[in-house]
Amino acid sequence: MCVVQAKTFTYMRCFFGRNRQKSIEDGCCVYLCGKHHNQSNEAVHFNKELDKELKIKMELKWLEYYNKEIEDFIKRYHRNYL
Ligand SMILES: [Zn+2]
Repeated sequence: MCVVQAKTFTYMRCFFGRNRQKSIEDGCCVYLCGKHHNQSNEAVHFNKELDKELKIKMELKWLEYYNKEIEDFIKRYHRNYL
């Protein structure tokens, strides 16, 4: 289901741009419906707030799931959203 709203999803969005491959390996992907992917003004491709919110959530999940520190995240992805 779409992570923004409970609807049927169409798109899988992976995080961290040029770190796409790493984000796939780490499971840092979310499912979104078309509306929240790229088919409306609320979509993550156009809505910076939503984009940031999802990245923050993803980083927190990553830290929790892999039991890592923020420094580890920065080492792997060369950025920090928190
Ligand atoms: Zn949606």
